[in-house]
Amino acid sequence: MSYDDNNIFARILRGEIPNDTVYEDDAVLAFRDISPQAPVHVLVIPKGAYVSLDDFTQMASAEEVGRFFKTVGEIARSLGLVGDGFRTIANTGVNGGQEVPHFHVHLCGGRRLGRMIAKD
Ligand code: AMP
Repeated sequence: MSYDDNNIFARILRGEIPNDTVYEDDAVLAFRDISPQAPVHVLVIPKGAYVSLDDFTQMASAEEVGRFFKTVGEIARSLGLVGDGFRTIANTGVNGGQEVPHFHVHLCGGRRLGRMIAKD
């Protein structure tokens, strides 16, 4: 799947759409989900143009992947999620329920989140 420059997170990265930023550096942006599923629901994205976790882990350097996930951990700690625990989600493709085709990690916490996967 090729990268769609007009996906909503690409537009956020270009400053075309506002976001509620919780962290930013030269490679990573983290912002609050517009439709939170938990008291704390933050999305962490690389600034590079990667469609999914599959794309990111194939195309990005090991240094970039490692730095990204180190930053995800730092953000979780800075949000105070670690003490009571939290959930990290990276949806990929149709079966994963991925809606936005720019790789992102959800950080959800602030309450007990129940079952990992809902039975449909
Ligand atoms: P996913 O289903 O894993 O692709 O998740 C996409 C997430 O992006 C959903 O939780 C949406 O609520 C969230 N989202 C969509 N548009 C925005 C936006 N403009 N700002 C913040 N979060 C958004």
